[in-house]
Amino acid sequence: AERPYIVGNWKMNGTRAMLAQARAIDRAAQNLMKVEVALAPPFTLIHATHREVEQIGVGAQDCHPADDGAHTGDISATMAADAGAKFVILGHSERRQNHGETDALVRAKAQAALAASLRVIMCCGETEDVRDAGNAVEHVIAQLKASLPETLDRPAEMLTVAYEPVWAIGTGRTPTVEDIGTMHREIRNLLVNLLGEEDGAAVRILYGGSVKAENARELLAADEVGGALVGGASLTAESFMGIVIAA
Ligand code: 13P
Repeated sequence: AERPYIVGNWKMNGTRAMLAQARAIDRAAQNLMKVEVALAPPFTLIHATHREVEQIGVGAQDCHPADDGAHTGDISATMAADAGAKFVILGHSERRQNHGETDALVRAKAQAALAASLRVIMCCGETEDVRDAGNAVEHVIAQLKASLPETLDRPAEMLTVAYEPVWAIGTGRTPTVEDIGTMHREIRNLLVNLLGEEDGAAVRILYGGSVKAENARELLAADEVGGALVGGASLTAESFMGIVIAA
């Protein structure tokens, strides 16, 4: 099987004082080469993190769909790549909810990111209402279909999907291993349909939402789970490496 891929999403956390954590994560990851480790710090720390680390991947948490222009406060994929980012997280539920990002906008961002040679971690997930109504799979598949780039003329390793149930983010609650497996199998089917047998099978599907060292082994053992996207527990080297070791 593929190396597990464990990605830390620092969200809006971290001043330069946190570079010590990035350095510690990088040092520890050098002794755990069977796991692929990456961090997405805020934009302000991308370049400094990139310079601090040797082993782990560094990425951004968002990008604008345009390459440059009159977009005050925005950062393009090219700019993120220039700062040292190798990937970008797109379509996170916090972007969709707090910034009104539509599937169409997320798709445009993904196309811009790939054009700038950034790998894309495409997020998807259902709210609790949608799950309670029994529509979780249908919702996630429709969201992904509309958010993924229309044509993926890049190698499959440029794309990663992250399934993050909105109700599991930062709540300490997680789906059952069975529910994660069901969702990930459906996502795998979609990827195979969209990209063909070989590329569709090569895209890693991460689980995200309240992953910590204590539940990582169980969650990562679910069907078609190729790694984890970690929020809160990625903020210290100690808690993040607990997850990496469990993977
Ligand atoms: P938590 O790990 O804090 O639940 O966040 C998950 C997440 O949103 C990662 O992108």
